[in-house]
Amino acid sequence: MSLTVHQFPCLSDNYGFLVRDEATGTTATIDTPDADAILAQLDRLGWTLDLILNTHWHPDHAGGNAAIQAATGATIVGPPEVTRIAPLDRSVGQGDTVMLGETPLAVIDTGGHTLGHIAYHDAADRIAFVGDTLFALGCGRLFEGTPEQMWGSLSKLAALPDDTTVYCAHEYTAANARFALSVDDAPALRDRAEAVFAARERGEPTVPTTIGLEKATNPFLRAPLLRPHLTPADAFGEIRAAKDGFKG
Ligand SMILES: [Zn+2]
Repeated sequence: MSLTVHQFPCLSDNYGFLVRDEATGTTATIDTPDADAILAQLDRLGWTLDLILNTHWHPDHAGGNAAIQAATGATIVGPPEVTRIAPLDRSVGQGDTVMLGETPLAVIDTGGHTLGHIAYHDAADRIAFVGDTLFALGCGRLFEGTPEQMWGSLSKLAALPDDTTVYCAHEYTAANARFALSVDDAPALRDRAEAVFAARERGEPTVPTTIGLEKATNPFLRAPLLRPHLTPADAFGEIRAAKDGFKG
């Protein structure tokens, strides 16, 4: 089993991901931020799309479902909430498995950013597609869920092996680093922030990241250490609220 992941920037700060199971050539797009960009990348690679895998219903994640399905005939898989804005062929949730060719992708419920947000985890290759739940040095805003729900979701991702490669859906890392430095002075964070600013200066992506790197430097995963007097969910909620009001 092995997957090839092709990552490319689209819209203003999204990443598109085309994922191919090498054994069978079966190909999926993770979300549909920009139908034209995704179809152009498929064309360039010479890949045929079989599956659309949505993480949540937001338009920069599911807005291209209809156009891409019309162009490719791909089957659309995602959480039920996607039907708020886009077509869906198969609803999935926690505990379900989606086969990408011969590679099983486990569905993890990661609600909080939206209530029904999910992530896709390839345990064999140690790869996770986490949408807008976990970002490099950040996490998604709580548009629909509670701090308790989001903390539970982030804890599930943090429990994956440290060497799991994490594909997040946006390039927010420099802004996230500025906020992180305002609440945490861990040396590992300072080193990483410097590397992030330099990478962005050179126009390089800071995605993907890893679970181990996020556990060491992401202030949202480190919330219980940064706010030891609070329960973990309350510590997380306080840092999330501080980020929402941060003018960096
Ligand atoms: Zn979103």
